[in-house]
Amino acid sequence: MKLKEKVKVQQLSADNINWQEVEKKVYMQTFKRLPVTLVRGSGMKVWDSNGKEYLDFFAGLAVNNLGHCHPVVISALSGQANTLIQTSNLFYTIPQTQLAELLVNNSCLDRVFICNSGAEANEGAIKLARRYGKLKLNGAYEMITAHESFHGRTLATTAATGQTKFQEPYIPLPDGFINVNFNDISAIKAATTKLTCAVMLEPIQGEGGVNVPDDDYLKKVRNWCNEKGILLILDEVQTGVGRTGTMFAYEQYGVEPDIMTLAKGLGGGVPIGAFLAKDSVTVFKQGEHGTTFGGNPLVCAVAVAVLNYVIENNISNHVKNVGQYFIEKLKKLAAKYDCITDVRGRGLLLAISFNQDISENIVLKCLEEGLLVNDVKPNSLRFIPPLIATNNDVDTALEILDKVLKERK
Ligand SMILES: *Cc1c(COP(=O)(O)O)cnc(C)c1O
Repeated sequence: MKLKEKVKVQQLSADNINWQEVEKKVYMQTFKRLPVTLVRGSGMKVWDSNGKEYLDFFAGLAVNNLGHCHPVVISALSGQANTLIQTSNLFYTIPQTQLAELLVNNSCLDRVFICNSGAEANEGAIKLARRYGKLKLNGAYEMITAHESFHGRTLATTAATGQTKFQEPYIPLPDGFINVNFNDISAIKAATTKLTCAVMLEPIQGEGGVNVPDDDYLKKVRNWCNEKGILLILDEVQTGVGRTGTMFAYEQYGVEPDIMTLAKGLGGGVPIGAFLAKDSVTVFKQGEHGTTFGGNPLVCAVAVAVLNYVIENNISNHVKNVGQYFIEKLKKLAAKYDCITDVRGRGLLLAISFNQDISENIVLKCLEEGLLVNDVKPNSLRFIPPLIATNNDVDTALEILDKVLKERK
């Protein structure tokens, strides 16, 4: 650590407060947190309150695409903070319009609405699809979504999320959501009725364990939606903005959604979400949807800078190359350790499975060794580093994982 950085960390921990104890008293205990208090980040690294350094293969949950405190993010954030932060949507602002234009020019969609999170983006998409159903599909409002999906924590997106562990505590949930098996076109066909207005899917399921569908699944879903005149909503909150090796994951599956949602990587760390739609399905009239904070100049200026950086530096292609290197190395690791039963994913959204529920233990061991990874499932580890990760970073991460696995033996 440089001296200046050392002093910063010392200042932060100098007061000797045990922040984890304080948190346990004052914060709602809904998160199972790792036992570290992070105080600083730079590039691929973060530091805790004891000054310990970690290589970050977690990226704030697939959010910090350019790593921590990237100059492009800092400059856009501080520049806009010095200029104009919040206006409400009752005025035009330049960063919001620039962001919408960038998204339209770089995707197959025509119109954008900007909000503050992934769940909110999906809520907006659900409302748009229901509005479309009401106006164009004889009042159809049901939506087919997948088991093991994840669409957010609001009531409607919880109903859309096909995982009973998230739904059970809140029953009754808003109705009109039918969860069927992922990667099974016949299940979608069987669930489609006169009441169906849309199918909503993640191109690759992230929170469900990095589940990659067959190459032709989304094409079959697209064809079915065309045949029935219903909408295809792709939730690219996790897969979008370069994460899987193309700007959006739909590009790799040869389909175009009618509605797409984005969030995580879009702002390089600031809270932002968006939903985009084709002109033909954008049936909202003035006053039918809204937000106070959504699309404010501060976060939009950052998202514009991040998107421009991703596009100008062809980060998607970098992700594709590093992802390929990464998955090959994971396969080699799997050949070395019998306990690894599966290697999967695309770009820098990768996972491995074990033959036992050991991923929490592995995560804690990696943490001790200075590596942040995620136990997306009791038997699966997920790797979602910043998109700027290099082959060298992959080597370092896998050396640590190798050491941890060796010591388990
Ligand atoms: C994380 C995630 C969400 C929810 O985003 P929040 O910002 O936490 O509301 C929705 N969909 C997918 C695919 C996600 O990965």
